[in-house]
Amino acid sequence: MSVEPEFVMQGLDIMVTDPKCELEHRTPFELLVAVILSAQCTDKRVNQVTDELFKTHNKPEDFVNITQEELEQKIHSCGFYHNKAKSIKSASRDIIERFGGEVPSNFEDLLSLAGVGRKTANVVMAVAFGGDNFAVDTHVLRVSNRLGLVKTDVPDKCEESLCKIFPKNKWSRLHYQMVLFGRYTCKAMKPECEKCVFNRQCPSSRI
Ligand code: SF4
Repeated sequence: MSVEPEFVMQGLDIMVTDPKCELEHRTPFELLVAVILSAQCTDKRVNQVTDELFKTHNKPEDFVNITQEELEQKIHSCGFYHNKAKSIKSASRDIIERFGGEVPSNFEDLLSLAGVGRKTANVVMAVAFGGDNFAVDTHVLRVSNRLGLVKTDVPDKCEESLCKIFPKNKWSRLHYQMVLFGRYTCKAMKPECEKCVFNRQCPSSRI
């Protein structure tokens, strides 16, 4: 049993009318840094950290020049700060050495940056460059499984299936609708099924 894809699109348009990236940024590079910081962390916390960080560090050369230890201190509260600092520094170095200091605007080049995975590359493509991309984070993975659209806990497989199910020009919108729907309604611990438009068809409904 699963919710029909057509109804998923209609229902999400009702539940999430203004899907957009909640990570604050002014440039593709700031977005890239914010997305790296957002792994296993709330957007609210990332915005608090970047609000300070971007006052002094907002270009690739700034992150090449800062020491690993200094950067770790600045991003400490986002968690996983050691790996995140490494990723930001490696991606910054790559952007300078291979792309003339500009964040590349195609998916394969983004994915080729050291420290950048599929989810990050997909979000940057969709948000910064208007691409048709379906980034799968923890919310998209949970929501699409609960709705019965996919049966996998592997993000790459989930992305592949969702891209087959939904029309390409909806991928980016659906990504943000599922993120916000998962964050505020279909929550990990206590999904609010009583106020969800899918509660009669959803195989995971608790009512
Ligand atoms: S009915 Fe409940 S579990 Fe199903 S999508 Fe809605 S909130 Fe999530």
